[in-house]
Amino acid sequence: MISENLKQVQTRIIDACLNANRLPSDVNLLAVSKTKPIEDVARAMEAGQCHFGENYLQDAIPKIQALPHARWHFIGQIQSNKTRDIAAHFDFVHGLASEKIATRLNAHRPEDKAPLGVFIQVNLASETSKGGLAPEALPALVDHIRTLSRLEFMGLMALPPQSFGQRARRDFFITLRQLLEQLPADPEIDRANQLSMGMSDDLETAIASGATWVRIGTAIFGARSKNGETL
Ligand SMILES: *Cc1c(COP(=O)(O)O)cnc(C)c1O
Repeated sequence: MISENLKQVQTRIIDACLNANRLPSDVNLLAVSKTKPIEDVARAMEAGQCHFGENYLQDAIPKIQALPHARWHFIGQIQSNKTRDIAAHFDFVHGLASEKIATRLNAHRPEDKAPLGVFIQVNLASETSKGGLAPEALPALVDHIRTLSRLEFMGLMALPPQSFGQRARRDFFITLRQLLEQLPADPEIDRANQLSMGMSDDLETAIASGATWVRIGTAIFGARSKNGETL
């Protein structure tokens, strides 16, 4: 079941790339396994999936310890009392939104690990509940991250409001891409060319707008309990 779902999602990604005149190898699949058991992650790994996303730290740590060869992405909001565990266990974070959290993640990143890959979450819809940084504050946070040797700035992440239809989402995703393109590049320091956007019901729209990471839960692992839906 999970392996078939994965194949279907991979096919959707390839079709979306063909329609958008993009290379499928430029779009990475992040399988969002939050609330799902270790066995489900193991099945997806057997089917060739490598990257997994979690947003509940306590749920995630046993999975990471059981499956250390996967690459793990923290996709939720990052509270400052969680930075030590997040920096110790994950390979990437997608919800970075403040200098204070960046400084703490950098300080807590273990020396024997590669720099933690960070996506800055941008709040494009001015929603107070979702977290994320105001677009005006972006250049200062990027500059700050570039001074931190244990973090690598990857790019931007955003989450459109659920009420948005596909057309509004497309505009939202394109705005995120333009924000990334406007940031000063520093190729000596990092690539900073990644866009984490698109989920189960809008991955085609996201890929057409430039996504390089799609974060897919439901379409791979099935529906979550109501509790698991809260972000
Ligand atoms: C849960 C979650 C996803 C996956 O959503 P689906 O609709 O199940 O594909 C993606 N991104 C974030 C930040 C999430 O919390």
